[in-house]
Amino acid sequence: MIELTLEELSLWLLGVPLLGIGIVVFLATLNRRARVRLRKREIVTCRVCGHVYKDQTKERAPQCPECGRANDRGDSRRLG
Ligand SMILES: [Zn+2]
Repeated sequence: MIELTLEELSLWLLGVPLLGIGIVVFLATLNRRARVRLRKREIVTCRVCGHVYKDQTKERAPQCPECGRANDRGDSRRLG
């Protein structure tokens, strides 16, 4: 038989569910961030005409449907 004091028992009864909730929240946050990153990658803004379009291909530089220019995905870090 495991001997526990009342303080130890109450710590176990509070601590274990709180730890479980913390792990679930942490994993849900990671999952949500991954989905947001994936969605941001699909949205491309043309650097020439400003047209915003969605591209779900794996192409690195998808072409703008309006003007035909190839654009980088996400926020471009290039100057000019
Ligand atoms: Zn364009």
